[in-house]
Formats: sequence, C-alpha cells, structure tokens
Amino acid sequence: MVQTVLFNNEIVSRKEVKIDLEDRGYQFGDGIYEVIGVYNTKTFKMAEHLKRLERSAKELRITLGNILEGLEANLEKLIALNGINDGIVYVQVSRGVAPRAHQFSQLEALPVVIAYTREMERPIEIQEKGVNCLLTEDIRWLRCDVKTLNLLGSVLAKQKAIDNSCYESILHRENVVTEGTATNVFIIKNQIVYTHPADNFILNGITRSTVIDLCKEEGIKVVEEKFDKQQLLQADEGFLTGTFIDIVPINKIEETVLGKGEPGRITEYLQRKFNRLIN
Ligand code: PLP
Repeated sequence: MVQTVLFNNEIVSRKEVKIDLEDRGYQFGDGIYEVIGVYNTKTFKMAEHLKRLERSAKELRITLGNILEGLEANLEKLIALNGINDGIVYVQVSRGVAPRAHQFSQLEALPVVIAYTREMERPIEIQEKGVNCLLTEDIRWLRCDVKTLNLLGSVLAKQKAIDNSCYESILHRENVVTEGTATNVFIIKNQIVYTHPADNFILNGITRSTVIDLCKEEGIKVVEEKFDKQQLLQADEGFLTGTFIDIVPINKIEETVLGKGEPGRITEYLQRKFNRLIN
C-alpha cells in the first residue's frame, strides 16, 4: 500500500518527499519532534503533544509561523487515510534548509515539517509480564526537557540495553536516576509513588503527567522528587511510562530483582486506570 505522509502542510505519497541535503535536521539534528499514540483509531492527548512541540520550538528558537494551524487536522487525516487502528503518528519539524554553518541567522527558508503514521501491535505482553532493565550513565546534554532530534545519548544507551537482553536503560547522573532512553521512570516505596521532577534533566512525558494525575485522582500519594540508584534498587515496585507502551512494570535491574520480580499491586492498579482512559 502506498503510504500517505505529510510534507510541509501537504498530504502526499511517501515517494514524493524530498529532503534537501542541507536540511539542518539532517546535518545537525536541528529540529524537534513528537510521537502521538493512536488507540482504536483515536489519538491520545494530541493537544498536550502539540503544546509540547510548540514549547520545544520556542526553547530552540525555531519559528513555527503558521505551522501549527491545521496540523492537528492533518495528522488526524493521515491516520484515517492510512487506516491506522493502533499505532503512532510521528511529526518532526526541522529548522529548515540553509548553507551549512552552525549559526542559524542566515536562514530564510521556513522549517521543514514531515509526519507519518505507523500501525503497531499493542505491547500487551511486556505490560502484563514486565521487563528487565540496565543502569546506564546519562551522557545526554543538559536540556533533556526539549524533545529534539538529537538523540545519540539515548540511542547508545538503548542499544546497550538491547545488547544486554534488556528492554530499557535507566539513566543516572552520578547517583541520581533521571529517566529511561524514551521513557520516564517511577518507583513505589511504602505505597508512595516517586518520579524525577520535571526539570531540565528529563523530558516531561505526557504519559508521566497522565499517571501523576491518575495517582492524585485515586488518592495515591505521588512525589516528584529525585531518587538515587540505591532507592531504585530497593523499591517495592517500579515502572516505565511512555507513549504507546503506556505503563510497563520493571521486574529486574541488572542482577537486582525489584520487589517480587513481577508487576506490583499499585502498578497494576494504575495500568487498569490508564487503560480506561485510552479505551
Ligand atoms: N523520556 C524521554 C527521553 C523520551 O524520549 C520519551 C518519549 O519519547 C519519554 C520520556 C516519554 O514521553 P511521552 O510519555 O510523552 O511519550
């Protein structure tokens, strides 16, 4: 089937997309993106994702102009045209095309926008059974709150996890646990849920915010506070959050079994509540 994609505000066939070799996204990773979950043909938290895209642009001084106008409608159109039931829609905005130079002041062209969809199977198995993780040093830059195309720190850490038959690398700066390569990390100790505060060291995940809100609604105490590797390894329960994986329990971190080594009670409770939101 010919895939229909978005290219600079136009819906075209994937074959028609031409990215210039001096696109700054291609040369510098100079751009931003979002991944929005699609559940049973419906997008989840689209407005929140587009708001974060706008914030990322502002932080990197990428001028969006009127790019956001009609973007939501176009993404919805792509999902319908490609017949997506479950999966994601990916949208990326690069700063644009200019003769290669680090500074962007010579840029006259508008940012380059692309978006495409992908049908994916819901990751039910890892949600039900849980996953094993690795602890890996966080070597990323100091603006992890911005969702940029520059992902090499995460790329290397994720590959290290896969090379060690793990699902995810849990990142730490010195002793402080920050987040996963494409996930936020939560632990539970004595019925209290902990996660790293939304500062420059983590991406403030849309799933993360949803889970925090769920905890508050359900009367589960949730604290946005830094915790260290020791606290992680001694937690009663732990889980990862992210778009489309939703909530995935952590069973084991390297040689340490977390809690009982299976999805914990509060984790499963939150999963049930989260499933109600997306279904
Ligand atoms: N942290 C990082 C570094 C990520 O890249 C992502 C998503 O890609 C997340 C957390 C989870 O964010 P969200 O729940 O908005 O998908």
